[in-house]
This record gives sequence, structure tokens and C-alpha cells, in this order.
Amino acid sequence: QSLDICEFCDKLLRQLQGSIARDRQLSWQVPQTPVMLNGDEKLLRQIFSNLVSNALKYSSIDKPVEIRLFQRGRELIYSVKDQGIGIPAGDLPRLFESFHRAKNVGTIPGTGLGLAIVQRCVDLHGGRVEVKSQVGVGTQIFVHFPL
Ligand code: ATP
Ligand code: MG
Repeated sequence: QSLDICEFCDKLLRQLQGSIARDRQLSWQVPQTPVMLNGDEKLLRQIFSNLVSNALKYSSIDKPVEIRLFQRGRELIYSVKDQGIGIPAGDLPRLFESFHRAKNVGTIPGTGLGLAIVQRCVDLHGGRVEVKSQVGVGTQIFVHFPL
């Protein structure tokens, strides 16, 4: 089903911003002009919101979470960037496995399912996920969707 992914993303992020603590600021940049994507709204919601929820959960309240949606050639890219705890290199290969949690999560709660769900939903859109992360610096996750 074809939908304007920019409007969808903007609306979803406004909802998320409204549902989190008022002192926790999300910032996002989404194209002003429509970009049509063949996608499933329920699955896209899982992708967009799981990544934001991780960024919020694994960084402290005073750190920004920055979200971008942009087109590059025939791809649409969704990126979520945080300045949180980061992901140890040793955990990266298993990051998208169900129930896998990195060794540095400490007492931060979680089940290890969010990213497994994201991976499945991205696969169903023919896309791919890319992770850039450095322990103690932060994490940026990119989702590439073919247009
Ligand atoms: P939940 O099922 O509630 O989402 P979770 O957050 O632990 O639990 P995932 O979202 O699947 O599970 O993430 C898997 C693991 O990847 C996390 O446990 C954490 O170790 C690591 N991780 C994911 N996102 C981030 C992030 N933005 N910063 C640091 N670590 C992260
Ligand atoms: Mg999670």
C-alpha cells in the first residue's frame, strides 16, 4: 500500500513526543515534500518507534535524540542518533537476535526483542539496517528502504 512516508513519520514522532516525559526532547527532520513508499503502517510504526525507544532508553535524559528521514537516490533513509551508552563491538554480530542484550546494559530493563522485530519488519519492506556505535559515545542506526 502506497503512503506518504514523510507525513506518516512526522505524525508518529509527534505522537511519541507527546507520550514521553516533557523534559525529554526529540528532534526530527523530515522532508517537506511527500515521498511515496509501498509499506505497511503497522510494521513501519514498529520500526520507527522501536528505534526511538532504544535511543531514549540507552541514553540519559539530558542527551538529545535526533531523528532524520531523507531520500538519497532511490533509497529512503531513516536514522536515529543518540549519545548513549553505545554498543560493544563484540555484541554487534548478535544484535538482531531475539533476546540478545549487549553486555553493557547494566540494570536498564529490556527483553531483547525490539531489534529482532525491527529486522523482520525491515526485511518485509526489502530494506536493510546499518548500525554505527561506539561505547560511551553513542549509537546511530540507519534503516534503508528501497523506493
Ligand atoms: P526490548 O525488547 O524492550 O526492546 P531491548 O531494548 O533490550 O528490549 P532490543 O531493542 O532488541 O532489546 O535491543 C537489543 C540490545 O541492543 C539491547 O539490549 C542493547 O544492548 C542494545 N541496544 C539497542 N539499541 C541501543 C542503543 N540505542 N544504545 C545502546 N545499546 C542499544
Ligand atoms: Mg529495545
